Amino acid sequence: MDARLEAIRDTVLARNPGEAEFHQAVVEVFESLGPVHDRHPEFLEAAILERLCEPERQIIFRVPWTDDQGRVQINRGFRVEFNSALGPYKGGLRFHPSVYLGIVKFLGFEQIFKNALTGMPIGGGKGGSDFDPRGRSDAEVMRFCQSFMTELYRHIGEYTDVPAGDIGVGGREIGYLFGQYKRITNRYESGVLTGKGISWGGSLVRPEATGFGTVIFTEEMLKTRGTSFDGQRVVVSGSGNVAINAVAKAQSLGATVVACSDSSGYVVDEAGIDVGLLRQVKEVERGRLKDYALRRSGVAYVEAGSVWDVDATVALPCATQNELDGDAAARLVRNGLIAIGEGANMPSTREAVAVFQEAGVLFGPGKAANAGGVATSALEMQQNASRDSWSFEHTEQRLTDIMVGIHHRCASTADEYGEPGNYVLGANIGGFVKVADAMLAQGLI
Ligand code: NDP
Repeated sequence: MDARLEAIRDTVLARNPGEAEFHQAVVEVFESLGPVHDRHPEFLEAAILERLCEPERQIIFRVPWTDDQGRVQINRGFRVEFNSALGPYKGGLRFHPSVYLGIVKFLGFEQIFKNALTGMPIGGGKGGSDFDPRGRSDAEVMRFCQSFMTELYRHIGEYTDVPAGDIGVGGREIGYLFGQYKRITNRYESGVLTGKGISWGGSLVRPEATGFGTVIFTEEMLKTRGTSFDGQRVVVSGSGNVAINAVAKAQSLGATVVACSDSSGYVVDEAGIDVGLLRQVKEVERGRLKDYALRRSGVAYVEAGSVWDVDATVALPCATQNELDGDAAARLVRNGLIAIGEGANMPSTREAVAVFQEAGVLFGPGKAANAGGVATSALEMQQNASRDSWSFEHTEQRLTDIMVGIHHRCASTADEYGEPGNYVLGANIGGFVKVADAMLAQGLI
């Protein structure tokens, strides 16, 4: 790493103790930025990096609610409003027991660069809670969401901060959150949240956008080697929103997705995942992947274990951070992997990324490859602002154009900085320069 940046990194890590995921995300970005500071010494003079690593505002709050037995439960809520140089803070809410400040900050930090890469007018933020929706009734989830919004509402707004979904937050949760916001403020402010239902201000393609976008980005990478998804053997991790839609899109392009997972195990379905059955089990019934295997012949269910033991030519990690380590990466490479597109945020450890890059595998980092979700959220905001709603075909075309544009931005930036094919460098520099220029223009704030 560049010596000037090392000193800044050390200060950032020391100021934010115990936040391992935030440290990892910061270090990964800093490793790309040496050459930018050679060209732009003004960024160092204006302390752009130091300012970028310090969120503009961090909110931590108590979320009290009652469960179905009438017992009082207490969770912790977070919203980190990281950077508003390019537009209102924008980023999802994650409800998962592992959530703490370090996770929210890593996600918010990544979101700044991701949102810049989309070319849309959105800043970076992220939030969530250590609440675990799994096993909770609809009524419990509703009471939790209402309590969460009773504090959050005062910090958000269509021109301030626009949350959306992430792990554990889908259409049901966004509905309860929006209802409570409307009730407290007495405003039908559609643009305050994205991922809404289609009949009340949502956008077609938003549910599919992250998974579809990841596949579109990966297809663009494959094209640079004269190939495509057609005929590829694909493994996807996770079986939530991003994973299911990645499976659907990859198969629509002629790939066979032979495996996917949840946090209990994984299925191997050599005939290709039945997307309809997967949606029924995971989205409609909110069941476990094990149930998919019980209802389809020829499917093996492996409890625990790693889905990365299944060989593939293309891998799409779509579950969670640090789910793919150096050993798994080495195994995938040995078994013939040619490309990896990150649907999740930071799913590959730093060791895994190094293995992929050394082996010459096409590697699309999450902040570029999974940006289709937030980009389509920005399209939802556009539709809300103009009180319009677009067709599926039109919106999907916009998503495709945005993903092709992000691929082009990453690839051309990597070329410009003398590292062709290095999408990590391309994404980090491409996103950073846009935000840094805007911060310089807006003065010391
Ligand atoms: P969901 O809650 O819909 O699905 C998450 C999936 O990942 C589930 O199958 C879940 O299994 C699995 N999973 C979660 N945690 C773990 C874990 N610790 N170990 C193994 N499996 C795990 O979330 P999304 O699909 O929305 O999000 C997935 C990833 O994509 C996250 O990294 C998120 O930040 C990222 N992302 C999401 C966007 C969106 O639009 N939703 C946008 C951009 C990125 P189980 O059901 O067993 O918990």
